[in-house]
Amino acid sequence: MALRKLREGNARFAANARGTGTLITAAGRAKLTATQEPIAIVLGCSDSRVPVELVFNQGPGDLFVIRVAGNIVAPSLIGSVEFAAERFGTRLVVVLGHSSCGAIAATIEELHRPTSNHSVNLRAIVDRILPGVEKIVARHESQGAQAVEHAAMTANVCASVDQLRHGSAVIESLIASDGLLVTGAWYSLETGRVEFLEETLPA
Ligand SMILES: [Zn+2]
Repeated sequence: MALRKLREGNARFAANARGTGTLITAAGRAKLTATQEPIAIVLGCSDSRVPVELVFNQGPGDLFVIRVAGNIVAPSLIGSVEFAAERFGTRLVVVLGHSSCGAIAATIEELHRPTSNHSVNLRAIVDRILPGVEKIVARHESQGAQAVEHAAMTANVCASVDQLRHGSAVIESLIASDGLLVTGAWYSLETGRVEFLEETLPA
């Protein structure tokens, strides 16, 4: 249901046919002062070209959004997912990567030309992406820069999905016994479309 809403919302966005769901009335705003029931938790990249609510054509109260460069998973981000899943009963988590991601490009660059120039803080992001993409980058090397970047981006989404699924006892238990789905997707800057990664969806 929530997944369908995201797919339909993105189809509206990509077709440039905005739904009225994103318009909020004073009554709608008043309702949200008391409570929230987001349909999905989205861990996306901070990239200015991937505004999560717009991309899924959703409005205030619809999505619990966490954004960090490279949609990486670190303790505070896991904590944010735990909080929303437990507090609001949201049962869908989407890790959203995207084409032309600067964090992925920086990581590939680091694999080719290791440098000590990064600040420790930027380093912390690249270091979280590296292990999940290293082998993939080597395997796709002969296919050109764009193929390498795409393969690394999707591998990084899968790695984040995996870390969310197994990096928290709370999330693990919600998946096992309470119907929580953690899945991955990527947004194409070129088409405006979000594609869900089949390998991260249940069979
Ligand atoms: Zn990015």
